[in-house]
Amino acid sequence: MLPKPRKRFGQHFLTDRHYLSRIVAAIDPQREDTIVEIGPGPGALTTELAKRVERLHVIEIDRDLAAVLRQRYAPTQVVVHEGDVLEFDFTVLPSPLRVVGNLPYNISTPILFRVAEMAERIVDGVFMLQKEVVDRMVAAPDAEAYGRLSVMLQYRFAMESLLHVPPGAFTPPPKVDSAVVRMVPLGSDRLRAKDEGLFSRVVAAAFSQRRKTLRNALKPVGAPESFEKAGIDLGRRGETLSVAEFVALADVA
Ligand code: SAM
Repeated sequence: MLPKPRKRFGQHFLTDRHYLSRIVAAIDPQREDTIVEIGPGPGALTTELAKRVERLHVIEIDRDLAAVLRQRYAPTQVVVHEGDVLEFDFTVLPSPLRVVGNLPYNISTPILFRVAEMAERIVDGVFMLQKEVVDRMVAAPDAEAYGRLSVMLQYRFAMESLLHVPPGAFTPPPKVDSAVVRMVPLGSDRLRAKDEGLFSRVVAAAFSQRRKTLRNALKPVGAPESFEKAGIDLGRRGETLSVAEFVALADVA
């Protein structure tokens, strides 16, 4: 029997075997992989992964679910880390790491930013999220869904939307459609901003008011004259710029 889902932890449990097996196939776990699962819940995906890898790590905030998981699996097979994934120190886990999970949708964006911070230590990430967030992750310039999340993640990862999952696959069904996305860190020859903090501020400012031209939107970050050196028309709006153009802007600021 499923435990009573807790709304505050964004609990929607995957109960459809068809979608479960498609997600496992998308992850394609190999015995020697070090995998960490975020939000295992009652363990539908956990059980499938645990069968296939030597040792699985899971991070679960719900004390009761963590206790259920500890009882079900041998500690050598599944290591249960009870706590908040946003506070979790991933450096305690061996790397390179594969990160997977049917994420709690209420905090999926901050989780993605945490994963981005450790891009250098991971092999890939395979996550189920709201479809609307996956659309933003994979969006190209000029698309309606293109925004800060698209640029900040595409700066570090190649991303692919793998499958669409309807609300009925979960108990209780969420109000929104879901999708599975794979993120693979770009190689060490990827484009890098000279100052990544500044890059992130430029991107945030450019999208803070979507209707504004770059000339106006970037004022809080630097004088328009300094950005002109990038050779990008400052009459354009942020939503039209590629990741490379954002890097060029940050590098001259
Ligand atoms: N993986 C399970 C499944 O597919 O049935 C559960 C998915 S449910 C959408 C999200 C899970 O993340 C829940 O088990 C919830 O308790 C857990 N969770 C919510 N917030 C969390 C947090 N901050 N840190 C770790 N786990 C969290």
